[in-house]
Amino acid sequence: MNRVVASAPQLAGLHPYDPKYLPANAYLSANENPSDVDPDIRAQVDEAVHGIALNRYPDPLANDLRDLIAEANGLDRDWVLMGNGGDELLFDTALAWGGPGRTFLNLPPTFSVYEANARLTNTPVIDIPRLPDTFAIDEPRVLQAVSDPANNITFTIVTSPNNPTGLRARQEFILQLLDATDALVMVDEAYFEFSRETMRPYLEQHENLVILRTFSKAFSLAGVRIGYILAHPSVIREYCKVRQPYSVDAVSQAIACVVFRNRNAFEPAIQQIISERERLLAELRATPGIEPFPSDSNWVLFRMPDADEAWRHLYDRGILVRDFSSAALLEGTLRVTVGTSEQNDAFLSALRDFVLDKERGGSYGRAE
Ligand code: PMP
Repeated sequence: MNRVVASAPQLAGLHPYDPKYLPANAYLSANENPSDVDPDIRAQVDEAVHGIALNRYPDPLANDLRDLIAEANGLDRDWVLMGNGGDELLFDTALAWGGPGRTFLNLPPTFSVYEANARLTNTPVIDIPRLPDTFAIDEPRVLQAVSDPANNITFTIVTSPNNPTGLRARQEFILQLLDATDALVMVDEAYFEFSRETMRPYLEQHENLVILRTFSKAFSLAGVRIGYILAHPSVIREYCKVRQPYSVDAVSQAIACVVFRNRNAFEPAIQQIISERERLLAELRATPGIEPFPSDSNWVLFRMPDADEAWRHLYDRGILVRDFSSAALLEGTLRVTVGTSEQNDAFLSALRDFVLDKERGGSYGRAE
């Protein structure tokens, strides 16, 4: 036989996730922290990794790390579960709360992985698009949808702040949502260190609340793959049924323990990202034709004419931003991750050059 039977039908029409990571001088496309872990912490990482028995399986639940995170959040260990990046826990959410005959409520435009996971698990999706001008959640429609038993919504994900649009969700709304349904409500707080807002205070009162977080952004560990959820032990137990037993390897566990113990050392870089974000926003607002959207996170989404051409112009100058110009509900937008101040300057200057060229050519309108 030199043929293989067709793959599962739900794969038809699906495309593998493509981060569109291309070689560049300034990587401003993936919402990473522009600074790597500092040398002192790096030395501690090296030492911790040095002592690991590589021939032994890791602790399946990464209990040392779990304990550190539990303690920092004023919880017991059984309220915490580690994953191979937040991505794994997102997939586990669809496995455990989705499936045929159940429904995922999606709030696009948002992180595209949610919808892909639903499709992979044969979970029907109901979309309630965000409001077109502000990307705010259509709160009344969402509350109505979850309250209608005919929809059979079994889980939803509220991203706060929302990737790629930038703003956090209103906590009052999330609380209303938690009260309106017993569907699982995941609040994706991958970027909460930049927004300074968490649903953690409400965890004990709501068995249906799951908080997702990651080490990939504020803690500079995108290359290591560590994420976690906080949730009621009854919910964590269900996740444990679907998770890959050894998904969090020993090396990643050791690195994440060192980084988490040193988490206060990341605070200045977080503050710097927040202030650079405000500078980027102000400069973009002052650039003709550019309409930036406010952000509580470590990036800025902006709309402009000829966005695809602008993406190419930036890339030709070594600056990689994320092109959403032809993505549904995001037409004409690019997303720039906050980089170092030098990278942000290079980005702003290359973008201004593009705008000036267009203005000179007379083909560029001013934003109203
Ligand atoms: N949630 C959101 C909103 C994200 O943007 C990302 C990363 N792009 C993740 C979760 C997952 O991050 P990771 O797998 O690196 O922890």
